[in-house]
Amino acid sequence: MYLDTSTVMLLIGAALTLLASGFLHLTYNKYKFKPADNGYTGAEVAEAILRAENITDVGISQVSGDLTDHYDPRSKSVCLSQSVFNMHSIAAVAVAAHECGHAIQHHEEYAPLKFRSALVPYANLGSKLGIPIVLLGWYLGLDFHLSNGSVFSVAQLGIWIFAIAILFQIVTLPVEVDASNRALIILAREGILDGQELKGARRMLTAAALTYVAAAASAVLQMLRLILLNGRRSKR
Ligand SMILES: [Zn+2]
Repeated sequence: MYLDTSTVMLLIGAALTLLASGFLHLTYNKYKFKPADNGYTGAEVAEAILRAENITDVGISQVSGDLTDHYDPRSKSVCLSQSVFNMHSIAAVAVAAHECGHAIQHHEEYAPLKFRSALVPYANLGSKLGIPIVLLGWYLGLDFHLSNGSVFSVAQLGIWIFAIAILFQIVTLPVEVDASNRALIILAREGILDGQELKGARRMLTAAALTYVAAAASAVLQMLRLILLNGRRSKR
């Protein structure tokens, strides 16, 4: 069977995303039922961390679903999924501490988080409009003729717009890794987890980080694929 380079790129992206999400679910299921000795639930750990960091204006709330945990900077809320909120497993403690890591980043005005938040509206536009503009450009074959004589196609414009969404995925990486590092340092410092439990928490958070790496890699591959296909079209 002959596979075109652009199709291979698409397949690699999909495989990376699937592998990372499968690995996260496996790791999560492993540590979801391993109780941490201290007996604190995710919500209690979040409360203890925010108190230890002197953060008084951030709330803790429960959201539905599995692995839906996040920090909402607009409402200043650490949103924990039901099982993380109520359970005292190593996974629950690790995830709750990670989300508090984001709250601390917000509190300290951590620059990559600020940049990432500023990108959100543009990244949403980029992921919605980028590819349709590229397809429209290919369909209509429209070009802009610049005053310096060079030609810029509508498809190229679409690729640049799509690139903003990719930039967002890339900026997400240091933000996520930093939140996990902060979480592990605090869990050790506050004595919330012991040495062996910390290893489990680190594995859990590394598995979560890998899903962001896979998402960024697959987005970059998608962008390279567009550039490749666009190059082929303009050569015709
Ligand atoms: Zn995160």
